[in-house]
Amino acid sequence: MKKRVVIIGAGPAGLTAGIELLKRSDHEVKILERDNIIGGLARTNDYKNYKFDIGPHHFITEKPEIEKWWKDLMGPDFIKHHRFTRILYKKKYFNYPLNGLNVIRNLNIFECVSCVLSYVKYRFFPIKDIKSFEDWVINKFGKRLFNIFFKTYTEKVWGIPCNKISSDWASQRIKGFSMSKAIFYAFFGKWFKKNAPRTLSDEFYYPPNGSGQLWNRVADNIKSNNDGDILLNQNVVSIKHNDGQVNAVLTKNNNNAESSLLNRYNAQSFLSSMPLQALINALKPLPEKKVLDAANSLVYRGLITVNLVIDKENIFPDHWVYIHDKDVKMGRIGNMGNFSEGMLGNKKHSTLSLEYFTYVGDEIWNASEEDLIALGKKELSVLGIAKEEQILDGIVIKSPEAYPVYDENYQEHLNIVLGYLSNFSNLNLMGRNGMHRYNNMDIAMLSAFKAVDQILLKPDFDILEKSITSETTL
Ligand SMILES: Cc1cc2nc3c(=O)[nH]c(=O)nc-3n(C[C@H](O)[C@H](O)[C@H](O)COP(=O)(O)OP(=O)(O)OC[C@H]3O[C@@H](n4cnc5c(N)ncnc54)[C@H](O)[C@@H]3O)c2cc1C
Repeated sequence: MKKRVVIIGAGPAGLTAGIELLKRSDHEVKILERDNIIGGLARTNDYKNYKFDIGPHHFITEKPEIEKWWKDLMGPDFIKHHRFTRILYKKKYFNYPLNGLNVIRNLNIFECVSCVLSYVKYRFFPIKDIKSFEDWVINKFGKRLFNIFFKTYTEKVWGIPCNKISSDWASQRIKGFSMSKAIFYAFFGKWFKKNAPRTLSDEFYYPPNGSGQLWNRVADNIKSNNDGDILLNQNVVSIKHNDGQVNAVLTKNNNNAESSLLNRYNAQSFLSSMPLQALINALKPLPEKKVLDAANSLVYRGLITVNLVIDKENIFPDHWVYIHDKDVKMGRIGNMGNFSEGMLGNKKHSTLSLEYFTYVGDEIWNASEEDLIALGKKELSVLGIAKEEQILDGIVIKSPEAYPVYDENYQEHLNIVLGYLSNFSNLNLMGRNGMHRYNNMDIAMLSAFKAVDQILLKPDFDILEKSITSETTL
C-alpha cells in the first residue's frame, strides 16, 4: 500500500513539496488548500481579463538550482526583464538601485553633504547595543539616509516604529549590503552588474501571464500524476495527534461554511505551510498554555491591494515604484503591464496595483471595496500619477497574513513554538508563514526541498489507518 503525505497549503512551498515528492518517490500526495485558487501569495488573479499578482512577484534567486528548476519548468515562458524601479520621495523620483548623479540632483548638494557627515559620524561612533532595525540601518548608512530611504517605507510596511522592529529583519533582508557597496554600485554599477547584491540586481524573470502561471503549471503537473491531488476550499481547522505523531487533519469546506461537517485526511506524513499561529490553535489536543500564548503572540501584517484599470497607455516606465511620501497611505505601486502585455485585458490601458499595508481589523482593513477604490483614486491623483476620471475600474484583494512580523519579541515566541512542534515525528514545517520567516519564493521552495528530504530520508514508521474524506464533526 502506498504511503500518503498530506500537504497543507497550495502556495509555492506546498506545490514545490508536492511535485518533488511525486518526482522522487511513489508516495501519494494530497494538497489541501483553503482558498479557491492555487498559488498562495504568489498567485495571479484574473479580473475581466486584466491580471494582477498580489503585489508583483518577480522571479529572482541566488540559488542556481532554483533558477534551473524554474527554467526547466517554464521553457520559453520565462522571460528575462531588466528591472526599472524608483523611489518616489517628496515628489522626486530616485532610481532604485541608487544612481549617484540622480541622488545628487534630487537631494541637492547640501542634503548630500549632511548625509555623508551623518554616515561618517556613525562609522566612528556607532550605536553599540544594536537592538532594532533602526539601530542596524543607522550604523550602516547614517541617520540622514535612514530617514530618507528607510524610515517611512519600513514603517508603512510594518505599522510599527523602526525602533520596535527587530534588527534580524534588516540583517536578513539587507545582508551583504553596505554604504560602500551602495555608493560603489550607484556610480559604477553598470560595469559590475554580475556581482551586485540581490537587492541591487537589475534582472529578473517573469512568466507572460503572471507569477501564478508558473504555479499553475506545477499544479497541473501534480494533478496529471495519478498519485497527486489538490483539493481547493479545504480549510484545515483541526489537527489530530497523539504520542508525538499527527494522525489526521480535518478540514472545513469553505464552499459550505454553514455546515459543521468536516473532511478527514489521514496520512503517514504531514507537511505544513499554514501560519504557525493557526497550526498551533488547530492541534487536538491543544498544547500547554505557554506554547499557545507564544503562538498567539506571533503577529502578521496584512496587505490590501487596490488594483485599478487606467485609461492611459503605458502610464509610467517602472515595474514598480516605492512610495516614501507621508501624505499618502499606499506603500508601493506595481505596474502590471510592464511585467508583461499578457497582464492587460486591453493594451490601450494600464493597470496599477496599489499596496496598502495593514493589520486585520484596523480602519483600512475594514473599509469597503468602494471606499478603498476611492482612496486609491484620490492618492494617485495626489501623487500626480493619474487623474481620478482616468480610472475606469478596479478590484480589491485582501491578504490577512502577508508578512510574518519580526517584532522585538518574536524570536522568543518562535523558539517556544518551534521547540514544541519539533516533538512531532511526522510533521514538517516549510514556507513563509509556515516557519514565520520573511522569505521570498525561492527560499520557500528550498524549505520545501528540505521538508521532502526529511520525509524521504526518514526510516519507515507504522502505516496508520488509511481512510480519506470520511465525513466527521469536530
Ligand atoms: C506583496 C508581496 C510581494 C512579494 N513579492 C515577491 C517577489 O517579487 N518575489 C518573490 O520571490 N517573493 C515575493 N513575495 C514572497 C512570496 O509571496 C512568498 O515567499 C511565497 O508566497 C511563500 O510561499 P508559501 O507557500 O510559503 O506561502 P503562501 O504563498 O502564503 O501559501 C500558503 C498557502 O497556504 C494556504 N493556507 C493557509 N492556511 C491554511 C489552512 N488552514 N488550510 C489550508 N490551506 C491554508 C494559503 O491559502 C496559501 O495558499 C512577496 C510577498 C508579498 C506579500
